[in-house]
Amino acid sequence: MTTLLGAGGCTYYEETGITQALLSTATSRMIRHPLYKLQLRSYATSTKGHTHYFAGAPLNRLAWLRTSPAFLNAVVLSPATRWVLFSEGKPLLSTPSAGTSALARLSTQDVRLLLGPEPFFSQGRRAGEAAEGNVKELEAARVHGPPAVFLGLHEHADGTGGASRALPSSEFSAKKDAAAVVAQMHGTPYFSLDVSAVEEACVSEVLGNSEEARNGAKLEFVDGRAAMSIIDQFESGIFSVARTLVDWSARNKFCAGCGSPVYTLWAGWKHGCTSLLPWAEKSEKPCPTAKALNNYMHPRTDPVVIILTVSPDNGKILLGRNRNWPKNFYSALAGFVEPGESHEDTVERELWEEAGIKLLGLKYHSTQPWPFPANVMAGYYAIADPAEPVRTDLDNELEDARWYTREEVLAVLAHSDGAAAAKQAPKWDSGVEDTAQHEEVVIRQTQNEPPFKGPPPNAMAGVLISDWAHGRVSLSEKQDGDLV
Ligand SMILES: [Zn+2]
Repeated sequence: MTTLLGAGGCTYYEETGITQALLSTATSRMIRHPLYKLQLRSYATSTKGHTHYFAGAPLNRLAWLRTSPAFLNAVVLSPATRWVLFSEGKPLLSTPSAGTSALARLSTQDVRLLLGPEPFFSQGRRAGEAAEGNVKELEAARVHGPPAVFLGLHEHADGTGGASRALPSSEFSAKKDAAAVVAQMHGTPYFSLDVSAVEEACVSEVLGNSEEARNGAKLEFVDGRAAMSIIDQFESGIFSVARTLVDWSARNKFCAGCGSPVYTLWAGWKHGCTSLLPWAEKSEKPCPTAKALNNYMHPRTDPVVIILTVSPDNGKILLGRNRNWPKNFYSALAGFVEPGESHEDTVERELWEEAGIKLLGLKYHSTQPWPFPANVMAGYYAIADPAEPVRTDLDNELEDARWYTREEVLAVLAHSDGAAAAKQAPKWDSGVEDTAQHEEVVIRQTQNEPPFKGPPPNAMAGVLISDWAHGRVSLSEKQDGDLV
């Protein structure tokens, strides 16, 4: 049974103190119309193609070490280790007395009071007890204390400890001794910690005593979407995996197989059913997760297609307005991939359902992880005939959909209010309305407002629109240098 810190949490963990010795080292498949063949010119920013905000995977996740308690318990105590904290889905940001805000990265010593007694992973029945033997249900399990996830290692290829992307530059065999692996690490191991269930006064005390706070920084939990306009590209890659994992555990508290509470194992990357714990009362009919593969015990990622529809002459794009969006806000069409569909099927269906138009051609652009809460956005250019009447009455999701010329779109992009700031963008890509954010945008409208307002540049729709408007999308026949 998962036991979270509650009242008196601070007192409870004072027993262990922070004096314990820290380790000294530590297909593109094209739906082809006979007349049109969509091709993208190469605008790649890396060997993998376009690297979006939230993407880039800056950490070597060392997934094969998630099941190693020896490794995990050692790396927690490394002085290099850093923790990103969340409360109710909100990341902890740090604003130094002089400087810009960033994701707070606290040391193990900073958060030690919150972690509970050792061992941190592969815990036994009572706090402070280690799991006995090789019980797979307790493999790197954390059944006491706030949920923690091992996110991976940021390897400093440039030796600066900064925002370099180095994945993977080292090998750490699962067959190596855990202490040797930790000793060989050069970089920053990252964990997430969800303190939502920890007493607020206790969290405040821990944050107030952290090194960053003592150096004058202001530590504050900030809305995740607002954080998008603050944290940089490197941090966004850490934030996206951390927030999705934190959200997954926070909102999936019961076993989908039998309804018992769940706990995390594999360093936060898997759920286990408490009915199967060694000390649980055995029932006549064991939970089905005891046998076979059960994908619902692993984190989910839901695919969404983001569709920018382009005219065959490449001169216009179709943008839609959801009836729940702020006034005058237009964006690419979008929809969740439904069971039994390929991405291409979803694009074709959504175009028809939302705008009543038929798909003539399709080209993949890129994908973007989107941690609100657990999506991967797949960007496509679709081609359709602007002479066809647009109709929004089929699924009645859009209030309006219309074609815009390149000049109109460029004017919006050039306007200071044209692209919504991340914190103001509605949840157009999650299908969820956010009234508070809408109101903010409406209030900001002025007489000098642009012809329409579009999505922020760090979201897939904003990238698709910008790339098209600036001529980085070609509808001509395949040319040398094209991605496909
Ligand atoms: Zn179960």
